[in-house]
Amino acid sequence: MKKQTVAFSRQSTNLFFHILTGCNLHCAHCYINREQHGSNTLSLDTIREWLGIFSSKAKDTNLILLGGEPTLHPDLASVVSIAGDMGFKSITIDTNGFLFHDILDNITPNQIDFFSFSLDGVTRETNDAIRGEGCFDAVMSGISSAVEKGFSCSMIYTVSEKNIHEVTKLPELIKNLGISRFFIQVVGLRGESKNTDAKHQVSKSIWQDTIPKTAEQIAEQGIIVTYPKVFLTHEETFECAANVANNYFIFPNGRVYQCPLCEDFPFHSYEIINNALIPRPKINETNFFSLQIPEGCVMNKLIQPGNLSYDDNGFPRYKIACCMLKEELQP
Ligand code: SF4
Ligand code: SF4
Repeated sequence: MKKQTVAFSRQSTNLFFHILTGCNLHCAHCYINREQHGSNTLSLDTIREWLGIFSSKAKDTNLILLGGEPTLHPDLASVVSIAGDMGFKSITIDTNGFLFHDILDNITPNQIDFFSFSLDGVTRETNDAIRGEGCFDAVMSGISSAVEKGFSCSMIYTVSEKNIHEVTKLPELIKNLGISRFFIQVVGLRGESKNTDAKHQVSKSIWQDTIPKTAEQIAEQGIIVTYPKVFLTHEETFECAANVANNYFIFPNGRVYQCPLCEDFPFHSYEIINNALIPRPKINETNFFSLQIPEGCVMNKLIQPGNLSYDDNGFPRYKIACCMLKEELQP
């Protein structure tokens, strides 16, 4: 098994494209904030134009189609086809499992690289308490149908105090599901989650006692596992992805962020105006990325400092890594 920290790189770009913010669910930790991101559904023509902004580098760009729930978009199959024609390096559809508009019948497995299913509990009880009644069964049956039709599938588990107690049961749950990648995420203090009790991140000791071990057990099943590094020692190098990589988080109202932690605020680096990507004037998130602080990530310190800890001299005991810094286990 090979374990590596995935280095940030300017060589490839990640495009997280929210083609709508509408959703059939109301997950307790939903990061969508319609006041900030709008509630419109982009037309197919607009999606084509906006993808076109990035198409000159399509062969080096991973496209992740998101919502809301992207399968609620009636033209998702056409979006996939357009993105395929533009030559994007990879295409992933993130879904809550309900798979609207018969999407499995309207695209083929060779058109996308992954369907990525969100599950936030190993038991129906825990998952559905966070995501809503019926979600556990929808994800399980969605994965089964997608795998049966030949699609590559992955799973995303967002860890919080609400579901950390079930993480060790994940390897058993996903045995024989047929997924080939597994992503662990940390719940963020954004969107809806700010108003619910699903927002609490787990402590450093609980994270480190649980996540790496479970990730190894999942990887032993032949599944590639990715999880955020979260905590850095003072000796480890801190890098802000916004300074050394290309990530664009696009919302249907035209806002384009480089840092997901900023998404609750009008701090976006760019705005799409008349189908062109326009840098925004000061002050925006970009002005924060170069600040050097002993706590590591400056936006974490400003927005969700509850995960920091200080010694008696007021010095942070560790640094918080960029939320996009990942460990990857290759079986
Ligand atoms: S987290 Fe995803 S599935 Fe859940 S309400 Fe938000 S957009 Fe919908
Ligand atoms: S999470 Fe922190 S380190 Fe990462 S891009 Fe945002 S500000 Fe930079």
